[in-house]
Amino acid sequence: MSRFIPLSIPNFEGNEKKYVDDALEQGWVSTGGAYIAQLEQMLAQYLHTRNVAACQSGTSALHLSLIEAGVRPGDVVLVPPLTFIAAVNPVKYQFAHPVFIDCDDSFCMDPVKLAEFCEKECEFAGGDLKYKKKSVKAVVVVHVFGNMADMDGIMDVAERYGLKVIEDATEALGTYYTEGRYAGKYAGTIGDFGAFSFNGNKIITTGGGGAVTAKNEKVVDHMRYLSTQAKDDPHYYIHHEVGYNYRMTNLQAALGVAQMEELPEFVRRKQSNYEEYRSEFEGFRFAELMPFREGTSSNKWFYSLRINRDKITASMRDIITELEREGIQTRAIWGLINEQKPYDEEITYQLEKAPYYAARILNIPSGTQITRDEIRFVADKVKRLLEGLANE
Ligand SMILES: *Cc1c(COP(=O)(O)O)cnc(C)c1O
Repeated sequence: MSRFIPLSIPNFEGNEKKYVDDALEQGWVSTGGAYIAQLEQMLAQYLHTRNVAACQSGTSALHLSLIEAGVRPGDVVLVPPLTFIAAVNPVKYQFAHPVFIDCDDSFCMDPVKLAEFCEKECEFAGGDLKYKKKSVKAVVVVHVFGNMADMDGIMDVAERYGLKVIEDATEALGTYYTEGRYAGKYAGTIGDFGAFSFNGNKIITTGGGGAVTAKNEKVVDHMRYLSTQAKDDPHYYIHHEVGYNYRMTNLQAALGVAQMEELPEFVRRKQSNYEEYRSEFEGFRFAELMPFREGTSSNKWFYSLRINRDKITASMRDIITELEREGIQTRAIWGLINEQKPYDEEITYQLEKAPYYAARILNIPSGTQITRDEIRFVADKVKRLLEGLANE
């Protein structure tokens, strides 16, 4: 008996094959074809927004957002330290400088520290925020693991200082506010820009792919234009701007349309599996299942266990290896981006929670196909392992 419970794998229970076959039969495999427009429409409708451009990846969606936000060489962009590095790399594509702002207990950017940085470390004059004479143009807010960032707080700061807000909602398709100022608003539709990813590990996948939206629907049209090499004339090769090859293909979009049909069911399963784990870990002394923000409905994409470091000193690597031996795939939260080689000289601001959580968070299997029995098996093995490792 060897079981293997993956962390999270794609789920193709729906019309994926049918639509991909159809795209192949029609011969529309590249950046033209009806599935692309259909996917864009489905996304716009789902997110209650007017315009969405499908692109090649979440990273390209973020890059296009930074371009439209007016981020230029030498500017400053405020970014998170505790997330996937793709959220920050596009800042470097624009030859701008990231400044790392700490997270709160949701793993998302702390609006209090964001405000403090702007107030105490920057100068604000004539509507321009400056950090050491550099223009602070934008903030990249990641909705980590499907958890909504504190958008109330973040939008207040952004409005006060004229910052563009780029929401990295690559992990948060389906997360929305149920209460407050943004009730009914989906992650990615609150700030100026929202980026989504359909990479293989995300809640829906197109193999690789992404989408971008913006508050201003004309800006989305312009991003679509930039994503297809800024073609100004469909017949003659006329270009007025430098474009990119960032457009999604029809083959990917065919997959995406099938996945969008299943998205509500995927979210429902992720939510109910989370509840299952929650009751399994209730009252457990050596680890806590982290909650999602109150007043929101989260897609609960990834589940996070906080290891009690007062009792357990074993390295994450050892914990992960032990569980792998039991057939359970887990992972550590990311290494801090500001400690990675391309970023280790950049400015950080009051990083406390990010390193705290970096040393403590273990992600446990959260795939949409996981069974109740498997959840119990995982919880049981994790608990036994941690009990065995605890120093008491
Ligand atoms: C997946 C992810 C991205 C990048 O998306 P790709 O489609 O892989 O380019 C960016 N930011 C975060 C937080 C992600 O999890």
